[in-house]
Amino acid sequence: MSSNINNTTSQQIKHVNRNFRQSWKDEYPWLEYDSLNSRIFCTLCRACNKKNNFAKDGSKNIKLYTIKEHVKTKDHIDSHKKEEIIIVPPGHVISLMKIVYFMTQNDIPLNKIKPLTQLSRAIDITYVDNG
Ligand SMILES: [Zn+2]
Repeated sequence: MSSNINNTTSQQIKHVNRNFRQSWKDEYPWLEYDSLNSRIFCTLCRACNKKNNFAKDGSKNIKLYTIKEHVKTKDHIDSHKKEEIIIVPPGHVISLMKIVYFMTQNDIPLNKIKPLTQLSRAIDITYVDNG
């Protein structure tokens, strides 16, 4: 079950990505690597406008350890919860579109969509409970 990241490829990794490994993305799909600047980002935290390194300038510390530490941060846990909300079941795409429409009509920046979907979830309780 666990993939051995240690000794398996100790030979020189192609130097395109400094230390970044694509395999990390399997475990952390929200991970984004900026190969130009050699930084890693968290797409979840960025979408939630968090102020942490992973959301703002990206982390230059491209290590699995750094990622694991980020996962534990309050910012990330918070963003992750919101991410679950943004995954709208098929029937609720309409609701989502209504929200987007509402936002554009009211000049609300689209990056505020997550709190709004959260609100809609609070109001529309039909799909909250899933077991
Ligand atoms: Zn994050």
